[in-house]
Amino acid sequence: MTTHLRFDVQLNPQARSAAEREQVLASPGFGQVFTDHMISIDWSEGEGWSGAKLQPYGPLVLDPATSVFHYAQELFEGLKAYRQPNGSIVAFRPYANAARFNQSALRMAMPELPEETFVESLELLVQTDRDWVPTTEGHSLYLRPFMIATQPALGVNHPSRNYKYMVIASPAASYFTGGLKPVSVWLSTEYTRAAPGGTGFAKCGGNYAAAFVAQRQAVEEGCDQVVWLDAFEHRWVEEMGGMNLFFVFGDRLVTPALTGTLLPGITRDSILSLAAELGYTAEEGKISIEEWQAGCESGELTEVFACGTAAVVTPVGSVKGVDRSWTVGDGTPGPVTMKIREELVGIQYGSRPDAHHWIHKI
Ligand code: PMP
Repeated sequence: MTTHLRFDVQLNPQARSAAEREQVLASPGFGQVFTDHMISIDWSEGEGWSGAKLQPYGPLVLDPATSVFHYAQELFEGLKAYRQPNGSIVAFRPYANAARFNQSALRMAMPELPEETFVESLELLVQTDRDWVPTTEGHSLYLRPFMIATQPALGVNHPSRNYKYMVIASPAASYFTGGLKPVSVWLSTEYTRAAPGGTGFAKCGGNYAAAFVAQRQAVEEGCDQVVWLDAFEHRWVEEMGGMNLFFVFGDRLVTPALTGTLLPGITRDSILSLAAELGYTAEEGKISIEEWQAGCESGELTEVFACGTAAVVTPVGSVKGVDRSWTVGDGTPGPVTMKIREELVGIQYGSRPDAHHWIHKI
């Protein structure tokens, strides 16, 4: 087994010009344009990880029988690199993403990647494409590590014997185009995201493939995002589209506990740690949709927000289900949501002290 990998560096002779790059950075959107390079490392049974390289960004050539196309043996991660006031670049908690990558890998019967290699691969890509890290406030370079099963074989009795790990990067503006406008959510009772024993906690592509139809239904219902409920009673709140949820009862924050059916978000984990310093209590618990509605109606539940890498912290303004709908607070961003958002963004962009050592210099 390989313990330390050396990356072969192949620079892109057709890297875009500064002018072309600046044009993209002026309005980057999200996940649409990619930087000039990518990382690739192969794994095979017997040999382990090998062939680590940085190479020009470009298409892959894969046999049509490649296992990922048929059985979706795939997983991914998502994190960002942020420009600091002095021009340097940092990532936020990359080792937490490395650990979650390996948790997903275990569930998907895929090989684990040494955490050091995961972080080193991000560093190499960001260092090489450092001019792609936006300097505009609130913008960042989104990093997308992923792994696919590459054995060209259709047998379903065993996992693939070959894998490819890759990292691509894309400059990102704010995820929700409306800025900090509160989102409206649709309670999905027709579709379920995850059940105990399933893959809910893993960041595997299949979870997202199965979610599109529910997200589409949310939009048809006039809402921005889907909220997932438990698989049995369709009552207990799990998470929102691609974000975890927090419920604010005055100065008490509650987020659904990690039962195995929701993604253990790194933003969620960070907020659980930050809350006390900001004068709140934060706990993991169980929230039903009845409690959500009654809390908003009585005024006890003052704010609800969603959190995740892409959009940091986003207020939830209104809720709709098949037989009910209500607003959260007065439908505008609340003070607790704003304070937590400012603190997290401040740590990421270097304007607030990093007491937890979450910032990783690149
Ligand atoms: N839930 C889901 C389903 C997600 O895809 C994400 C994004 N990774 C999150 C929650 C938030 O996780 P994180 O804070 O690590 O971005």
